[in-house]
Amino acid sequence: MNPPVTMTSTFHQGGELVYGRDGNPTWEAFEVAMGDLEGGQALAFASGMGAIAAVLEMIPVPGRVVVGGDAYNGTRRFLADVAGRGRLRFRTATLEDTEATLAICAELAEAPSRPSGEGFGSGGILWLESPTNPLLAVADLAALSAGAHQLGLDVVVDNTFATPLLQRPLDLGADVVVHSATKLLAGHSDVLMGVAVTRRPDVHDALAVRRSLHGAIPAPLDTWLALRGLRTLAVRLERSQANAAELARRLVGHRSVRNVRYPGLATDPGHLRAGEQMSGYGTIVSFEVSAPGLADADAAEAVVAAVRLATAGTSLGGVETLIERRGRWAAEQALPPALLRLSAGIEDVEDLWEDLEQALAVAR
Ligand SMILES: *Cc1c(COP(=O)(O)O)cnc(C)c1O
Repeated sequence: MNPPVTMTSTFHQGGELVYGRDGNPTWEAFEVAMGDLEGGQALAFASGMGAIAAVLEMIPVPGRVVVGGDAYNGTRRFLADVAGRGRLRFRTATLEDTEATLAICAELAEAPSRPSGEGFGSGGILWLESPTNPLLAVADLAALSAGAHQLGLDVVVDNTFATPLLQRPLDLGADVVVHSATKLLAGHSDVLMGVAVTRRPDVHDALAVRRSLHGAIPAPLDTWLALRGLRTLAVRLERSQANAAELARRLVGHRSVRNVRYPGLATDPGHLRAGEQMSGYGTIVSFEVSAPGLADADAAEAVVAAVRLATAGTSLGGVETLIERRGRWAAEQALPPALLRLSAGIEDVEDLWEDLEQALAVAR
């Protein structure tokens, strides 16, 4: 039933596989599954950032990138680092505003210093996430992909929050999908891994070269664990999503909470669009804590310090509920200081609510 964990650095000469940095049968088992799920050809990486870096490193210099203002902070830090060394320019956009985002793409497409060559990213890249992290705004992936393509840009979607079970960006027109498999795909907070998926053979081959040259390869055991996680993705996702929806609904009515963000709420600005392009609303909820007499950040931190069943910590998508004040990170200072991001696990929802209620009481 299970592919073996092939622990080897090299292979007998004469076969298809040659050296362990270029291929491994356990990676291939995971890649076949991920390729089927997203509808493309997949490559496994050592982490989500490994996959993201490989994609961004393919862009010819000087590259041009449009990215969501609240994109994953590692992606923004990577772009800032590379931009600081003069290798690309990037602009941030409000992805839920399709027209404004495409207007920025158009400005970038007209920029005078075009890189030479015709390959992936030579006309610029539109880097999308939806729902966004942690504000859970919903971008119109099909309209943005079509508009960006018309302007000559290639489109990448970080599909970590949705997983291919809720949203298939390649079907919506994206050129490449990347994931932090660390999160829902592997699902048990025991592995860091990433994956990139594409239907374009040229992009697949170029990414495989990047992986070999950068050496951001996953360990065979980690790949095996990620594949095992993938087998229960559907049931974990169903339970976590139901928990997220119920917690969001109850948080809306709580007097110490404001601005609950969850695309599944009928009042959420992204609700209709999410309903059209996704087959579920996901497992992440954001909300702000308000407590009379406490500064916003202090009130939110008091809640995080008081949870007993949920775990105070960063990351998301595991079977355990995690909660974090995102503003504690230097790269997240644009967020409301009282904003908490909750990644719903698969615990009993009544236990989770009891825990959140007692923690919110501490903030009052
Ligand atoms: C965690 C995360 C990443 C980075 O993945 P790692 O596996 O931590 O390298 C990228 N994008 C999103 C949306 C994430 O949540």
